[in-house]
Amino acid sequence: MFSTLFQATGFKRAFDLFEEGKLDEAKALLKSLQEEFLAVCEENEALKSQISEVAEVLDLAEKIQFDGQKYWLIDDGERKGPFCQVCYDRDGLLVHLHQHENHWECQSCHGLYMIPRSTKDTPEKKPQMRSTLKKTIPLFLEQELG
Ligand SMILES: [Zn+2]
Repeated sequence: MFSTLFQATGFKRAFDLFEEGKLDEAKALLKSLQEEFLAVCEENEALKSQISEVAEVLDLAEKIQFDGQKYWLIDDGERKGPFCQVCYDRDGLLVHLHQHENHWECQSCHGLYMIPRSTKDTPEKKPQMRSTLKKTIPLFLEQELG
């Protein structure tokens, strides 16, 4: 691509050619400058659409949530999906997963995702933790009161 400096000198040269009365040369130069201008316009349009594509991808990326296995789309507070992680990471495409009894399947890459079973055992009740908590709090309070 020609630099703006070159274009500036091109216009200057066309001007000079007109001044010197070399009309044909001047016209030929103007024609090539016009072609160059149109090419720059085309390139500009292409860059603009690339930018809006990137903006769309970024916008989408903000709404995408990864649950450690699959992607979900958060749109207006609504969770849609799930979508295939492989297809999104590879192609940037959100492919709906088809639900089976125990797993989801991607219709595109045929990847399988297990449906998590509802967790029955909650490793929360630990009596040791509670007794230590009960001991530490009164101790702390006694010290505070003096
Ligand atoms: Zn897939």
